Amino acid sequence: MEELVRLSKARGFAFPSAEIYGGFRSTYDYGPLGVLMARNVKDAWWREMVQLRREVVGLDAAVLSSPKIWEASGHLKSFADPLVDCRTCKQRWREDHLPTTEDGKPQCPSCGGTDFTEARPFNLMFKTFVGPVEDESAVAYLRPETAQGHFVNFANVLQTEHLKPPFGTAQIGKAFRNEITTGNFVFRTREFEQMELEYFVPPDEAPRWFEYWCTERLNWYVRFGIPRDMLRLRPHTKEELSHYSAGTADVEFAFPWGWGELEGIANRTDYDLKAHAEASGETLEYFDSTTGERYVPYVIEPAAGVARTMMAFLIAGYTTDEVGGEERTVLRLHPRIAPYQVAILPLSKKDTLLPLSQEVLQLLQPVAMCDYDDTRSIGRRYRRQDEIGTPLCVTVDFASLEDKAVTIRDRDSTAQERVPIDRLVEAVASRIAW
Ligand code: ATP
Repeated sequence: MEELVRLSKARGFAFPSAEIYGGFRSTYDYGPLGVLMARNVKDAWWREMVQLRREVVGLDAAVLSSPKIWEASGHLKSFADPLVDCRTCKQRWREDHLPTTEDGKPQCPSCGGTDFTEARPFNLMFKTFVGPVEDESAVAYLRPETAQGHFVNFANVLQTEHLKPPFGTAQIGKAFRNEITTGNFVFRTREFEQMELEYFVPPDEAPRWFEYWCTERLNWYVRFGIPRDMLRLRPHTKEELSHYSAGTADVEFAFPWGWGELEGIANRTDYDLKAHAEASGETLEYFDSTTGERYVPYVIEPAAGVARTMMAFLIAGYTTDEVGGEERTVLRLHPRIAPYQVAILPLSKKDTLLPLSQEVLQLLQPVAMCDYDDTRSIGRRYRRQDEIGTPLCVTVDFASLEDKAVTIRDRDSTAQERVPIDRLVEAVASRIAW
């Protein structure tokens, strides 16, 4: 984990926010590589959830939201964590996150004390004010989940898209929670990005779709490079279930500190649509004009976090091996998840190689995210690309000027293949295909 945090900072995946001021409360800024990788994670999600399906459409709802939404959804009343204060060191903790002593008593992670105050609920939503006056009528909330944006737009989407259950709306966007215990790098932060699908189904089909989405989502992580034995599906116990849920299972990943949630898949029933219908007075139901049938759909929700998914890919991909007697670090990322798909490496900085190298770069830029590096020795440049997970290096050398061919080097096997430049685009595209 320490090594991953070091690599993340050194290579520009994530920096502590406001670092020049000493950092800001578990907030992180994504650097050049982090931005590329996060986009790829979101693209891989969007491709499978929206692009390859006919019945799922996109949505992008506002972050700044009306208190009426959160009143109706139940978040104002119950989106709360139980908090306790350590009487010894005065630090505040989430009761359900405390480690325990050997005899099962909750223990303070800071001072080791076991004397705590009674637990009190603490609402996790960030409250703010819209407009110049800070009074109750101006209160707004930063959304703590993207889900409610789907429900309050249910009738709009149904009207514009003429969809019939089962159908879904997909959304990727920021959510904010005033988490008490942050930590484990970007695993738990107060500002984070979610990828959520709300899948509206006939009520009697809900159990079947819940199972379907559990399998689909687990397979998605495997497809993009996480070994199956580093993943598990954990059903929630009755006590754990959210107020709206008839069943939830988490996709968990074997983090260095133990199993941790990547994604929650919930059968939210008709709770949200009914709650918003009642509070707003609007009709939020599906009407089938051919059969005359009318009902409030159930909702199956797979909800994943971008940062946790990135972390899982980085941890699962992080390996060291030996090449030519030298140890190297390799990030074995799926080509569509890796920040760069290709690095173009002119063998020498000499001007004679420059025009051809630039030509190769311009050929490949439309088909792949390319890095271009002409500094240091070729061996060190390969090591850097291995360390940031670039699946392919394309080397332009002096022979390239004569034979109009370049060398493609594979990150994992380090095998090299000479490819004519006029077949390069196709050779690269086939190696980084979805
Ligand atoms: P946890 O139990 O870890 O607090 P949760 O069950 O409250 O998570 P959900 O409400 O199901 O989380 O949100 C869906 C997903 O959003 C989570 O699986 C996670 O990937 C992501 N997520 C939730 N809270 C955070 C956070 N504070 N920081 C980063 N990602 C988060």
